Amino acid sequence: MREAIFILLVIAVLLGLTAFRFRKQIWAVYQVWRTIKSVRDLNSGDRKEQIPNAKGTEQLVKCVKCGSWVPKNRSVDLGSAVYCSSACIEKSATPA
Ligand SMILES: [Zn+2]
Repeated sequence: MREAIFILLVIAVLLGLTAFRFRKQIWAVYQVWRTIKSVRDLNSGDRKEQIPNAKGTEQLVKCVKCGSWVPKNRSVDLGSAVYCSSACIEKSATPA
């Protein structure tokens, strides 16, 4: 029984050291996860904002990052959120 506790303690120490070693990476992953979660929460209330343009042929969608309106066929739709460009997705994923 004492050996098992010792082994568990060693494993816990190793995990702790690993987490400490990769703390920056873990923090970055956590920030990205939080961003994705907040974007999802933001969109759960009112889904993608869409307005038809004057011609009625092309829909405009609003970028959740910068708020600019872009034609739907030029937007980047991630399902839960719409972005105007890959640059805005990268901005959203980068920790502040
Ligand atoms: Zn944008």
